[in-house]
Amino acid sequence: MPAVTDALDRLAAAADAGRAPDGADLEAVLASADAELMDVVAAAARLRFRHFGNRVKLNYLVNLKSGLCPEDCNYCSQRLGSKADVLKYTWLSPEEAAEQAAAGVAGGASRVCLVASGRGPTDMDVERVGKTIAAVKGASPGVEVCACLGLLGDGQAARLAELGADAYNHNLNTSEDAYAEICSTHTFADRLDTVHAAREAGMSPCSGLIAGMGESDADLVSVALGLRELGSDSIPVNFLLPFDGTPLEGTWELHPRRCLRILAMVRLANPAAEVRLAAGREVHLRHMQGLALQIVNSIFLGDYLTSEGQAARDDLALIADAGMVPLGLDEAPEAVREAVKVRRRGAGTDRAPNA
Ligand code: SF4
Repeated sequence: MPAVTDALDRLAAAADAGRAPDGADLEAVLASADAELMDVVAAAARLRFRHFGNRVKLNYLVNLKSGLCPEDCNYCSQRLGSKADVLKYTWLSPEEAAEQAAAGVAGGASRVCLVASGRGPTDMDVERVGKTIAAVKGASPGVEVCACLGLLGDGQAARLAELGADAYNHNLNTSEDAYAEICSTHTFADRLDTVHAAREAGMSPCSGLIAGMGESDADLVSVALGLRELGSDSIPVNFLLPFDGTPLEGTWELHPRRCLRILAMVRLANPAAEVRLAAGREVHLRHMQGLALQIVNSIFLGDYLTSEGQAARDDLALIADAGMVPLGLDEAPEAVREAVKVRRRGAGTDRAPNA
């Protein structure tokens, strides 16, 4: 394994030259020591600021149809046989979806992600989503819409593009080698086909990964390089939320420093891509979320598909504290200041100390 400082130098040189990075150097980033963590973050931050300045793209998820999926993705709370106590409902009406989306746009989101559980849409579903896209854009002019409806059949990508979808999300999730470990009802190749179809139809491809499912460092590097090869414009990085009632229940293998190394590795592999901090950030990064913003240039505002995120106010404070500005806004959100509280507990009082 190369020393991380040498690996970081070579990764920076590869980024400058527009060359694909070496997989062994990316693995060295994942294997780096805690004492080297700031070197790793700094190397990734240089690329983040070079390509995106101090801007943060805010994305807002609307779950159009939740739960009861016939597919068996192990990590998913909506999978076949999931006992997770998540919301289950069928298609939101275009008006309901537009109302939900407008709340996110009012909070600063410049992209709305319309997501539906299932293997893939019927042609009728595509038309329904088209009406929803029109309603969302009508209520929130200028907003970008990304659709995420599963595997696309013949002609569906072109139809979605025609109906106004700006982008299409379909995550690779893990490496080709590890794919069969996380899902048996569709393949890695199926996923690749859909991302290619989305791109060919003129939609911006959005495809990312999930970390913390038992994969190796080599798997993470493989998927990060696969996303580079695929030309994914945006790369959501999710950290597994191991819902009770799913096969990955109890899988807690991430910690904040590991998450930062993973984000840095993805950034170093994809210097100019939108790297988006996605589900699991609050749970796994905790107090390191601010540092993660030095690497990523995009986050989800508010809640995720089946889990709650932190308050939107806290997301905006995170951005303001980093001196950053949401994409599309003129200035940073106002910093949140807590009033000074005079101590009334512990020494000199009869109340228990704060310990
Ligand atoms: S296809 Fe989508 S909704 Fe269905 S189990 Fe897989 S990730 Fe979950």
